[in-house]
Amino acid sequence: MKYDYLIVGAGLYGAVFAQQAKQAGKRVLVIDKRSHAAGNVYTKNVEGIQVHQYGAHIFHTNLTRVWEYVNQFACFNRFTNSPVANYKGELYSLPFNMYTFNKMWGVVTPAQAEARIEEQRKAAGITNPRNLEEQAISLVGIDIYEKLIKGYTEKQWGRPCDQLPAFIIKRLPVRLTFDNNYFNALYQGIPVGGYTRMVENMLEGVEVRLETDYLKQKDALDALAERVIYTGPVDAYFGYSLGALEYRSVRFETEVLDQPNFQGNAAVNYTDAETPWTRIIEHKWFEFGKDQEGNEIPGTVISREYSSEWKPGDEPYYPVNDEKNGKRYQEYKALAEREKKVVFGGRLGEYKYYDMDAVIASALDMAARELS
Ligand code: UDP
Repeated sequence: MKYDYLIVGAGLYGAVFAQQAKQAGKRVLVIDKRSHAAGNVYTKNVEGIQVHQYGAHIFHTNLTRVWEYVNQFACFNRFTNSPVANYKGELYSLPFNMYTFNKMWGVVTPAQAEARIEEQRKAAGITNPRNLEEQAISLVGIDIYEKLIKGYTEKQWGRPCDQLPAFIIKRLPVRLTFDNNYFNALYQGIPVGGYTRMVENMLEGVEVRLETDYLKQKDALDALAERVIYTGPVDAYFGYSLGALEYRSVRFETEVLDQPNFQGNAAVNYTDAETPWTRIIEHKWFEFGKDQEGNEIPGTVISREYSSEWKPGDEPYYPVNDEKNGKRYQEYKALAEREKKVVFGGRLGEYKYYDMDAVIASALDMAARELS
């Protein structure tokens, strides 16, 4: 056989594994059905601005080993994610913090904010939150739930909040400090020059074949390598034999505008139910210096993000973590474990709502086991 490893998918999981395997002296082939590497972290230069083609990606981690790992392949800027929520023209700071509480209720001190949340929690009478709605109300009270959570979440997931798992909202911090940093992470930033370059650096010296659809020529490709690292959708691998796993998909309407500054921030979330998009990303604000003298970029690029139910032919983005899909995934996982030659990894291979750092940690751990 020509290769030790065939890696299906040139996204983060595949690229990290390829880099580790190559470094360990293995013969590696990476394939991807798209015409570019980097999976959904792909960024494309449009008029001097790195556009996050498959949605905003902000790197953040508490894992020092992951931070040190990625810094070998990119230099990270000091971008801090501070999205603004727009509820029918009222602007609020995210994540939920003293600025949010002050704007919502006029409270000034942490004790006042806490008392207000406690009062609303009591009124709701929730002791043991069983779903996202109950979890959200017991975290921040009814006002914030109704203005900043309910509409956004129901647009994003296409399901009522009382039918969604509580853990989704636990991603969002609640703070009694004046801190608009969205993530509770030790390290945060965006690779200077874009994610594509970072992934290309990981893949340096690795053979990559683009526009190569694994499942269409599986037998021929399998014959090339001893082992396969598969990062595509696990249900597609098995021909959807146990039924399709559900995903949320996202559609982006990207526009180049002839003005230097559209919204003054990288992300503005539209948290009401009526606005059809969930958020607008203005890509230039992920980078620094784009508005500084001598370095101004006169235009700007924005993407409106629309969430939709995935159907065959769409790009799968978010696994739907409800009971039905969780069970179905467990059945696929049992099948996957029987494929002795194949390792399933990453967001699609493990049907998991993964952050980038967790994907990288998981690929590094798998590589350590696999290559030892
Ligand atoms: N969320 C919300 N309002 C917001 C932003 C997020 O209610 O303005 C909730 C929503 O349920 C969402 C979850 O928080 O699914 C996680 O949001 P996050 O921004 O972490 O999602 P991602 O960046 O992965 O799309």
